[in-house]
Amino acid sequence: MKLPFCLFCVKSGVLCLKCQEKLEKEGFSELDLKLSQTLLELSKKFSSLNDIVFHRVLNENNHVYVIVGKGGANILFSDRRIIKHIERSLKKKVKVIEKTDDKTQMIRELIPVKTLGINRVYYPGGLSFVKAIVKKKDYDKIERKIPKIVEIIEKLTGQKIVIESM
Ligand SMILES: [Zn+2]
Repeated sequence: MKLPFCLFCVKSGVLCLKCQEKLEKEGFSELDLKLSQTLLELSKKFSSLNDIVFHRVLNENNHVYVIVGKGGANILFSDRRIIKHIERSLKKKVKVIEKTDDKTQMIRELIPVKTLGINRVYYPGGLSFVKAIVKKKDYDKIERKIPKIVEIIEKLTGQKIVIESM
């Protein structure tokens, strides 16, 4: 199991300097710590969890994205009780996102409606951003949430992104 905090800190709940800094400077939250503890606890019962790579959670209004490594979604969904436990412990609905090298795939998963195209737009001088196109109808549906979606995608993929309707 790989967690964003060291095992000792997760077990004891008392954070070393390095883990403390993660909370204070790297945007990790109490939810990351909470989920680390929950996963560790659950791994006693569900041994498949020993193979999971847990990166972090991103807090949305009424749910959280749980960001895991490749294969992590399969592990979390291998037994329905795992997600149930996690949702109870975080008091939030959970969506699982696998962090992969395929950023386009991640962007597609993080936009809650169907994307018609995800393209990279280049500026002179080497700057670029990603443009995701969605249907007008879908755009209207998610419009209020777009700043938050964009923020989450940028945090997770390191990509500047705009979402537009066609
Ligand atoms: Zn630590």
